Amino acid sequence: MKYCPYCGSPLVRMMLNDRERPVCSEPKCGFVHWNNPIPVVAAIVEHADRVCLVRNVGWPAHWYGLVTGFLESGEMPEEAVLREVEEELGLSGTLESYIGMYEFYRSNQLIIAYHVSVASDAVSPCQQEIADYKWVSVDSVRPWSAGTGKALRDWLAARGIERELVDFNDGAN
Ligand SMILES: [Zn+2]
Repeated sequence: MKYCPYCGSPLVRMMLNDRERPVCSEPKCGFVHWNNPIPVVAAIVEHADRVCLVRNVGWPAHWYGLVTGFLESGEMPEEAVLREVEEELGLSGTLESYIGMYEFYRSNQLIIAYHVSVASDAVSPCQQEIADYKWVSVDSVRPWSAGTGKALRDWLAARGIERELVDFNDGAN
């Protein structure tokens, strides 16, 4: 962001609350680009001891991850994660457990991860968002070195399965 979204003046960097931040150069405006992290919900979608991994549209061919999405205004994360599973996979899910919160600094996001079970594996993917999906056995799925991969690692560990994180770019699963 180079210009103020309110008045169009250039942004300048200024120390504010112990950090250098982009601030509008027009003193009467006062806009500060705080750049606070954005919450994102993520689902480990599970059916019959398999988890559903998805490749989002625009991702390289070997990248697969969890179902993720943003919250709508007025929505709680528990509602958002079930809505995202329904929208992206066409499956109605049941919230099984909260797994934890994970950083995704690279995208300035805070990931809130849940275990969601689905009654069927008959995925009907959202064409606009999902390029591909696959069901991977809990016995073989390998968690990856990104925020959502750490959620998967912790979920497996809670089931007594200890697995190391593998590089996300290696096409782990
Ligand atoms: Zn301004």
